[in-house]
Amino acid sequence: MDLPSKSSHTQSMLVFVVVFVCAVLVGSTALHVRWDKTQAAIQNAESTQTLATALNSQAESKIRIAETILTALATKHRLGGHGDAGARELSKIATAHLQKLGELDGLFMSDANGDYFLTTNATEKALNNRERAYFLYHQANRDPGIHIGQPVRSMTTGDWVITLSVGLYSQTNEFQGVALATLNVDRFAAFYRSLAIAGGGVVVLAKRDGTILARSQTDADTYLTNISESPLLKMANQGVTEGSVTLTSIVDGVRRIYGFDASEKYPVIVAVAMPEISALAAWKQRALTMWSFALIATLIVVTMGALVLRGMRRQSNMAAELHAAHLSLSTANKTLEALASEDGLTGLANRRHMDEWLDKLFRQSLTERMSFALLLIDVDYFKLYNDKYGHLLGDKALIEVGRAMKAHSRKCFDLAARYGGEEMALILSNLNAEQAFCVAEKVRASVEQLSIEHHQSPHRGLTVSIGVVAGTAGEDFSDVEQVVRAADQALYAAKRQGRNRVLLGSF
Ligand code: GH3
Ligand code: MG
Ligand code: MG
Repeated sequence: MDLPSKSSHTQSMLVFVVVFVCAVLVGSTALHVRWDKTQAAIQNAESTQTLATALNSQAESKIRIAETILTALATKHRLGGHGDAGARELSKIATAHLQKLGELDGLFMSDANGDYFLTTNATEKALNNRERAYFLYHQANRDPGIHIGQPVRSMTTGDWVITLSVGLYSQTNEFQGVALATLNVDRFAAFYRSLAIAGGGVVVLAKRDGTILARSQTDADTYLTNISESPLLKMANQGVTEGSVTLTSIVDGVRRIYGFDASEKYPVIVAVAMPEISALAAWKQRALTMWSFALIATLIVVTMGALVLRGMRRQSNMAAELHAAHLSLSTANKTLEALASEDGLTGLANRRHMDEWLDKLFRQSLTERMSFALLLIDVDYFKLYNDKYGHLLGDKALIEVGRAMKAHSRKCFDLAARYGGEEMALILSNLNAEQAFCVAEKVRASVEQLSIEHHQSPHRGLTVSIGVVAGTAGEDFSDVEQVVRAADQALYAAKRQGRNRVLLGSF
């Protein structure tokens, strides 16, 4: 029976299954959470990019309107808009456009010295813009297109404005001044803020050279910051006109997902940025829920596994205890069996065993026609010995006699037994009378040679008398009782003849 090892194998299997299920749970959750994060990032990137594209067309449309008006004013100016009449005419056109379209904050025209000769914003001041960058640009370049300048503080309103300008040139391409349209930066910023991009998102309108034109989160320094080093702008300037990318902002150091769209007509770009942390907030929430479920499921599996394991261990302990009980029971049985066939004092076979042995030997002798012998051995004057030396020494003397008998019996062939009290028996198989007598004489002599003091005996030492019979069943005797009786008679004859002797009996 190999109960403990079989049970420990099952327990190991159970632990393996629990660990495997937990690993699958944790692994699949980790994979799903990762996949979900990728999906969330893709979605956020797509939505920021889509918004950037929409805002880019809005910015383009505003610039286009300004370009259309400014080009019209410049053309009108070239075709004879000089002088007061021309200026009044231009002023009328400009005011009408401004009111009708309502997209621009102001329209201005200045002459070759920078002096304003047209302004749609009422002011008492005589204004001059010859120091402005856009004026210097048109003065130096003969660029017929629209020029988008850096945000400046408006001379008329004091607000930050984006300047959109067209150079005024004569028929002979001589510089004659600048036509200027302004767009209020705050209005852009307010519009961008109104989009309420999740978690403090940012919208930036910038020129491709890195000049920031408008930003949803604004402070004065914003317009002095140049973002030409931004990887986003570098990408746009390398020909990637739209896309999305995750970057750390060089303006405020926050990591954001950027969607961008660069105008193909004008050198501007719109970027919509969403802080990565808020873009992934919903994903984080989902991930937390998924991990919670996975943790609960893992705990349930582990708890159930532990309970089953405990049950199995208990069962296996019980089985082991049962096994041990079985073993000790069988040991006890064996001991009992031995006790049942052994004499407690001398260790010789007991009377019951002796009777069985004799019966068996008798049958064997009958079938095999084999001779066997019975020696009945009685301690001489033992009552006197007990009286003189005490019962304990008497017991010891009996043990010694038993040893002497055993010393002369062959293992498996002969049986030395305690017949009763101080009487013993030696059963010798396959021996004739002569051989049996010889063994009996050896036993007698051995006891005598023990030299156990016995002053009450005429022999001065402890001695035994032995009655011997030998023969074949069915030939010399017909039953076991006959054998015992004959041996007993021989023994008493030996006693009568003076003890300490062996006498061969007959049937
Ligand atoms: P005999 O020479 O005629 O055999 O004389 P005996 O004294 O030996 O014979 P008897 O039958 O009169 O006495 C036997 C004695 O053996 C009586 C009893 O006290 C003693 N005896 C029997 N069994 C035991 C035992 O187990 N231990 C001890 N110490 N003595 C025993
Ligand atoms: Mg006796
Ligand atoms: Mg006796």
